[in-house]
Amino acid sequence: PSHQGGDAPIRLTDNDAALAKLSAVRLGYLSDPFIKHFVPRASFQPSRPPLINIGTFVRTVTIDDLVEQWIKLSNKEGKRCQIVSLGAGSDTRFWRLATGPQNDGLSTYIEVDFPENTMKKAMAIKKSKDLSVILGSPIDVKLGGTALSSPRYQLFPADLRQDPNISLKSLTTAPPPLNPSLPTLLIFECVLVYMQPEESNCLLQWFQSYFASTGVLGTIVYEMFGLGDSFGRVMVSNLKARNVSLPGADPFPSYQSLPSRFLNLGYTTARALTLKEIRRSYVEPEELDRISKLEMLDEIEELDLVLEHYAITWGLSLTSSSMGTWSEW
Ligand code: SAM
Repeated sequence: PSHQGGDAPIRLTDNDAALAKLSAVRLGYLSDPFIKHFVPRASFQPSRPPLINIGTFVRTVTIDDLVEQWIKLSNKEGKRCQIVSLGAGSDTRFWRLATGPQNDGLSTYIEVDFPENTMKKAMAIKKSKDLSVILGSPIDVKLGGTALSSPRYQLFPADLRQDPNISLKSLTTAPPPLNPSLPTLLIFECVLVYMQPEESNCLLQWFQSYFASTGVLGTIVYEMFGLGDSFGRVMVSNLKARNVSLPGADPFPSYQSLPSRFLNLGYTTARALTLKEIRRSYVEPEELDRISKLEMLDEIEELDLVLEHYAITWGLSLTSSSMGTWSEW
C-alpha cells in the first residue's frame, strides 16, 4: 500500500514523546541532560499533566532497566552488545548509556525513523556540542542529511512498513554493518501501533533471520493496548482527531495476549507487564515516595486507568545461553 502524504501525523507523535520527557525531566522525575537539545525552544515548553509525567517516568525507568540488564548479561558472556531502536524519534537513550556506567558494555547503537525525523535529529546532533562530542569522530552526515554515522552511533532513514530487505539494507552494508554475531536488543518504544501487524511481523522476522545463525536477539515493545473499552475508545478518538491511525493496536486487545506477538513468531520467551502493575509492584518504594512529592495528584483512579492501557512486552529469541534470565527481569 502507498503511504504517501499521510505520515505527518505519525511522525509528529515524536514531538509529544519528546515534550513528555522534557516535562518529566524538568519536574525532577527523570534525569536526562540531553532531551532539551532535541526540543526547539525547550525552556518555553509547558509542562505536561502529572498523569503523563508519572507514565513517562514508569515507562522510561523500566525500559532503561531492561536495557541495562541486557548489557550486563551480554558482558557476562564476554560480549559487548548492540542496540537497534526502531522509530527512535528524539530518544536520548544512546547518550545516557554512553555517559553512564554501561558505556563499556555497548558496542553500537543504531536508530531508525522516517527521513524527516532522522534529518531533524541529525541536525540537532550536529548543532549541539554536548551531543556530538559523545559520538566521537568522525561524524559523517549522509544521504542528503537524513543519515548520520559515527564510530558507535548510527542514524538511518527508513519507512519501517516497507519490505525490510530494501528499507533496512543499509544497516547490513553501512560501515560498520549490523554485526550478526553480537547479542542484539531491538527497541520499539511506542512505534508498532502505527503499523499493520503484518508489517511489524515482517520486521521482527527479518531481524530473526539476520541473527539466526550466530546471534542472540532480544526485543522490547512499549505500546498502548486494550483500546476497545470506554477509556481506550477515548484515547483512540483523541488520536483520530489528530489524524493518527493505529492499525497495529487491535490485535492484542488484552494484556494476556501481548506476549503472543513474539511467541507466534517463534520467540522462546516473552512477558508483558502493564505500567499500572510496574508502578505498583516493581518500582522501588523509595522512588515512588520521591516522585509522589513532586506534584499533587488527586486522580489516582484515573492514573490507574491510563497506566493499565500501556504495557511493556519483552521477549527473547534465538538463545541457548545464560541470557535466558533476562526474560525473568
Ligand atoms: N521511540 C521514541 C520514544 O519513545 O520517545 C519515539 C516515539 S513516537 C510516539 C513514534 C516514532 O515512531 C516517531 O518518531 C515516528 O516517526 C516513528 N515511526 C512510526 N511509524 C514509522 C515507520 N513506519 N517508519 C519509521 N518510523 C516510524
